[in-house]
Amino acid sequence: MTTKERYQKLIEYFQQKAPDAETELLYDNPFQLLVAVVLSAQCTDKRVNLTTPALFERFPNPKSLADSSVEEVFSLIRSISYPNNKAKHLVGLGKMLEEKFNGRVPMTVEELVQIPGVGRKTANVITSVIDAQPNMAVDTHVFRVSERIGLTTHAKTPLAAEKQLISRLPKELIHKAHHWLILHGRYVCTARAPKCESCGLQEICRFYRKQMAKKSVKTTQG
Ligand code: SF4
Repeated sequence: MTTKERYQKLIEYFQQKAPDAETELLYDNPFQLLVAVVLSAQCTDKRVNLTTPALFERFPNPKSLADSSVEEVFSLIRSISYPNNKAKHLVGLGKMLEEKFNGRVPMTVEELVQIPGVGRKTANVITSVIDAQPNMAVDTHVFRVSERIGLTTHAKTPLAAEKQLISRLPKELIHKAHHWLILHGRYVCTARAPKCESCGLQEICRFYRKQMAKKSVKTTQG
């Protein structure tokens, strides 16, 4: 199977199975999404969603966050991983949005990565989710699933994977493909025990085909 065919079949599969795939983080506006994504680093979306209602009530906009203290933010996000660092980042984020971006969330990756706590991955999430820009955030799920299926080949870093995915996906589907791959990695192609037997991507999956080939060699030899 060629890489092109693999991509085509993957797109057909997900367009049918998950045409409306979207982020599982809960938010009402770009500011809330930005805060939620910063909090979600090395933490589950479920845990973030349990934490953000009280946080958003207390801090409804960048100004309220900018005027707060790290201690107060910490007290509201203490059940999240790395609360100290994230509290510092959120106060810094509020300040920068206020001082540099007129209290609004900028919509370019270049501007977003200047904000405390925001790296390339977060900037890609924000611009693709809010603005459907053709940016691919490569997290641990996207990285693993892409390599297993064969969407990427020998990608050593998230950036390398991002470049391969972007160059091969149709531009208008990139923002959606991000969710397809994350959700597939979260619920089906899990890190330790991928559910290959019930996975609808067996036919195109490089990892699965290799496993099957190994099994058949063993059976023949046995
Ligand atoms: S067949 Fe297995 S390894 Fe391949 S995508 Fe599905 S769950 Fe992942």
